[in-house]
Amino acid sequence: MDCITIKNLEVFGNHGVFEEEKKLGQKFLVTAKLYLDLKFAGIDDDLSESVHYGKVSHLIYDHMKQNTYHLIEAAAERLARDILLTFARVKRVDIEVKKPWAPIGLPLESVSVSISRSWHTVYIAMGSNVGDREAHIDAAMEALEKKEDLNVVQVSEYVESKPYGGVDQDTFINAAAKLRTLLTPEELLMILQEIEDEEDRVRTTHWGPRTLDLDILMYDDLVLDTEQLTIPHADMQNRDFVLAPLSEIAPCLRHPILNKTINNLLSELTEKYII
Ligand code: ATP
Ligand code: MG
Ligand code: MG
Repeated sequence: MDCITIKNLEVFGNHGVFEEEKKLGQKFLVTAKLYLDLKFAGIDDDLSESVHYGKVSHLIYDHMKQNTYHLIEAAAERLARDILLTFARVKRVDIEVKKPWAPIGLPLESVSVSISRSWHTVYIAMGSNVGDREAHIDAAMEALEKKEDLNVVQVSEYVESKPYGGVDQDTFINAAAKLRTLLTPEELLMILQEIEDEEDRVRTTHWGPRTLDLDILMYDDLVLDTEQLTIPHADMQNRDFVLAPLSEIAPCLRHPILNKTINNLLSELTEKYII
């Protein structure tokens, strides 16, 4: 991807674990690589289609001046987040914070921390079959929209479906949503579970009745299998009530393991749950 680099921006700041470092201050050098599409800025010769590196430099400078962190890790993390939230065109940022005067009693050129942070595209599935089913899903969308590190990009129509998995229970309302987020999969799962809890989700029977179920379907083209999380969602390819809403907002999205589009997966399903 195209990139704008701000190299070794010098700031005198008050970061460090030692009290003396906070009191006396020292020199920091910040390098920021901003990844974004520069094609149209180049063709049109127009700054509004790029990102103003002067403004980014001032944000970095002010942030390093106005805050005091123990760790350059914290400075880098906050800077990356601030840049991604402030400059919408920037998709990814690499930050290096160098500390040339690190007080370790040994001669060194500098010590530095480098991190890379970016926006991620996520698709989630939502389901409810207890109480005011639509209201639970609406509430989930509202709660997600309030999070600063997350935007709801698109929501599908709601569909109604028969229960799946053999438990005798009421019919479901299902939907899918596209999100843009700075959160890791684990952080996102935690937020989704908090929102389920806010809607009084109780976990009794597996695949049983629930006020709200929020599952991560896809996270970029990540493939992940841990005790806590399976991405893509392990059973999405077998559920028309997941694939049909998802195909409405992302028909050509490709499942990274099955290597088929959502439309393909949906067309292969024989068992129908959507009413
Ligand atoms: P299913 O995942 O088959 O739709 P469910 O949604 O009813 O079943 P839950 O009770 O909501 O299951 O979640 C059980 C656990 O599944 C969660 O605690 C979570 O750790 C784990 N899990 C694994 N992968 C995912 C995922 N992609 N999205 C959400 N939860 C997941
Ligand atoms: Mg589920
Ligand atoms: Mg779930």
